[in-house]
Amino acid sequence: MKTTTKVIQDAVMGAERIAVITHIGPDGDALGSLTAVGLYLRSLSKSATLFCESSISRRFDFLPLINSVRQDVLTDSEYDLIIAVDCGDAERMGQPFTDIPEPKPFIINIDHHISNTKFGDVNVVGKTAVSATEVLFEIFNELEVTFTSELATSLLTGLVTDTLAFRTVGVTGNTLKIAGALVDAGGDLSVITMQTMMLKKPSTLPLWKTGINKAKFVDGVYWTSISKKERKKANHHALSSDGLVNFLSNLEDAALGVVLVEADSGMIHVSFRCRPPFNVSEIALNLGGGGHVLAAGCKLPGPLVKAEKLVVEMSRDAVLQQMQD
Ligand code: AMP
Ligand code: MN
Ligand code: MN
Repeated sequence: MKTTTKVIQDAVMGAERIAVITHIGPDGDALGSLTAVGLYLRSLSKSATLFCESSISRRFDFLPLINSVRQDVLTDSEYDLIIAVDCGDAERMGQPFTDIPEPKPFIINIDHHISNTKFGDVNVVGKTAVSATEVLFEIFNELEVTFTSELATSLLTGLVTDTLAFRTVGVTGNTLKIAGALVDAGGDLSVITMQTMMLKKPSTLPLWKTGINKAKFVDGVYWTSISKKERKKANHHALSSDGLVNFLSNLEDAALGVVLVEADSGMIHVSFRCRPPFNVSEIALNLGGGGHVLAAGCKLPGPLVKAEKLVVEMSRDAVLQQMQD
């Protein structure tokens, strides 16, 4: 058994009250990882509370334990272990982490972001893993955990969503082997793919209309921005562009796709995507965010036009620079 797996096993066995936290604005990997760890802890009869600061789309209702995920920490609750999943840095855990009183308990950080800051007391960051659930699969294998159909569904969800259904760079024969094992264990690939990849909110249509109408292209960078007003008019409450950034970055002449979305708070949520040989993780990191080589993001203060100017300037510079590398 790997040393880190042993440390995780000992920490879990020695803990009484465990907080499992995933990132703000959760995707399928975030919620798949969160519920997978919840199922594992439940199988050990451990008291575990699952946290995510943001509200969760009904689209994820097929995930086990999803209705037990809490947005806030009760003031009188105490935790002796934190398990962070799919979080590249501690800030990504948001309010649930902040609300756990100092001194913070032992932290297990399970992730796969290249930009991970190793904020845990033990850090298992699978640099080549396509999802945090792939990292969990390997850990659970070492721990000889039984892969029930529920656990398989949670783990497979992370693999499917972070690889855009096994289509991204980084998907290997081993990724497909793991996915195969999870399907054999009862993970429902078609339900997962339909719920997380195919279905779009009705608000996606007006949102994309606005975004596409405003899209601009300079020096290989396709970008667009959605103001709070435009977002509200489209009746779109999430900060994700529901795939628009992938659409822009997949235009044949794109080096980079960028979408800026203004939140209710006035903060700007920025999504970056690219195809090889480009790298958006560095741009996002330079702007205080993080992510992967081909998919990254950051949060910037408004106003929107100012954030847009900064992001476009940095993206154009990065493209010119990376074309010379
Ligand atoms: P998104 O464009 O929101 O789908 O995010 C793409 C990738 O960038 C994901 O792996 C996120 O974890 C990461 N990411 C997005 N926003 C941030 C942020 N504010 N800080 C750090 N990483 C981020
Ligand atoms: Mn994620
Ligand atoms: Mn992930």
